[in-house]
Amino acid sequence: MEATRPKQEAVLDADYDVEAVRAAFPALQQDLYDDQPLVYLDNAATTQKPQAVIDRLTGYYTRENANVHRGVHFLSQQASDAYEAVRERMADFIGAPEAGGRPAHEQIVYTRGTTEAINLVAATWGRAELQEGDEVLLSQMEHHSNIVPWQRICEETGAQIKIIPVTDRGELVFEAFEKRLSERTKLVAVTHVSNALGTINPVEEIVRAAHEAGAKVLVDGAQSVPHLPVDVEALGADFFCFSGHKMYGPTGIGVLYGRRRLLDAMPPYQGGGDMIDEVSFEDTTYAEVPHKFEAGTPNISSVIALGAAAAWLKEQGRPRVRRHEKALLEYATERVREIDDIRLVGTAREKASVLSFLLGDVHPYDAGTVLDRMGVAVRTGHHCAQPLMEHFSIPGTVRASLACYNDRSDVDRLVEGLRKVRRMFG
Ligand code: PMP
Repeated sequence: MEATRPKQEAVLDADYDVEAVRAAFPALQQDLYDDQPLVYLDNAATTQKPQAVIDRLTGYYTRENANVHRGVHFLSQQASDAYEAVRERMADFIGAPEAGGRPAHEQIVYTRGTTEAINLVAATWGRAELQEGDEVLLSQMEHHSNIVPWQRICEETGAQIKIIPVTDRGELVFEAFEKRLSERTKLVAVTHVSNALGTINPVEEIVRAAHEAGAKVLVDGAQSVPHLPVDVEALGADFFCFSGHKMYGPTGIGVLYGRRRLLDAMPPYQGGGDMIDEVSFEDTTYAEVPHKFEAGTPNISSVIALGAAAAWLKEQGRPRVRRHEKALLEYATERVREIDDIRLVGTAREKASVLSFLLGDVHPYDAGTVLDRMGVAVRTGHHCAQPLMEHFSIPGTVRASLACYNDRSDVDRLVEGLRKVRRMFG
C-alpha cells in the first residue's frame, strides 16, 4: 500500500501556514518502513529541528568553533559574543525582568536541560536554605526530575516533601494546595504543563498564594515554553527551567532563570574554570552570576543553536502556534473519542498539546508497536510520572503529543492506526 500525506482539506487557522512550517523540518519529509510517511507525535519527549537550527549548528562547527571567555583571538571573541548574545535572546524569550539595575540576561544560567536546572537549584539553594522542619510542596503530576532532586536534598537536610493532590480530570486541587501551605513551606515546585496529561497549571495563582505564605516557587517549564507564550515576570516565578531540545533546539542545553537576589545568595554548583574570580590554595573567590554556575567549557554550539531555535519559534508567532496547537488538540480529542473503549487520561479544562489515553485492555506498548509500523510515532509508558500513574491506578498510557508542525492529517493517521489496533486486539 502506497501511503502519501493527504493535503489539508481545511486549515485550522487561516493565519497559520502549517504546510510551510512543516517544510522547514527535514526529518519530517521521510518515509519509514519504505512507504509509511512519518507522523511524529512524540513531541513531549523531544521535537524535530528546523533547518535553521541545523544550519546554525553546522555553521558554528564549520567556521566559528573556538572556546569562549578565554581567548584574545578573533574566533574566541566571536564565539564568546555569540554565546552571550543568546543569553539576552533567552531572557527576552521568557520575559525575564531587569533586577536591581542589572540586565535581565544575567539571570539566565545555561544548564544541560530542565533536569540539571532543577538539580542545580536543589543542590545550591536547597542545601543552603532547607533544614529540619521545613517543607517542600510538589504536585502529584510532577515529572521525576522535579521529584527526585527534592527527595535527595530533603533526605540530606531533614526537610519534608508534601504533595498537592490532583483530581480525576488531572487538575491540581487548589484548596488542598492552599491548606498545605504554611510558614514551614520553603518551596513550591510545580510543572507549568504536565508532560503526561497536558494540564496547564494556574501558575500565577500558585505563585501568589505561595508568596503570601513566604515560600519560593520553582516552575518546571519544560512543556510550556515550546507551546505557550511564557512571561516569567507575569508568572512571578522565582525559578523557571526549560530544555532546548523540546523547543526545536539541540539536546544537552537548557536554561535556569532565577531571580537575581536568589542567584546572588546561592553558593556555586560545580567548581572549575570560568566560575571563579580568583583562585589560591588559601582562598578562592567566585565569579558573578550567571558565570558562577557555569563551571568548565560549556556546550557552546548548543547554546548558539538554541538561540536560533528561539528566534525561529518567535518568528512563527508564539500566540499563533498556541492557537494552532489548541485547535488541533481539540480536533484530536474529538476524533480519538470516536474509538470504542477509549479512555482519555487527563481531561483538564486547560490543556496543551498532550493526548494521553488507554484503549480497552490493550497494553500501551502493543498499541505503540502497531502504530509504529504505520509510521506513527507515539510514546507509551509512565512518562517519568509514576506517582501520577499511581493516582489513576494505571501503569502507563499511550501519549500522542503535538507540535507546531502537526496537522489534521497526522491526527487522522493516528486514528486510523488506533482502529487497526482495535481490530487486531479485539
Ligand atoms: N519536566 C518535564 C515536565 C518534562 O516533560 C521533562 C522531559 N520529559 C523534564 C522535566 C526533563 O527534561 P530533560 O530531560 O530535558 O532534562
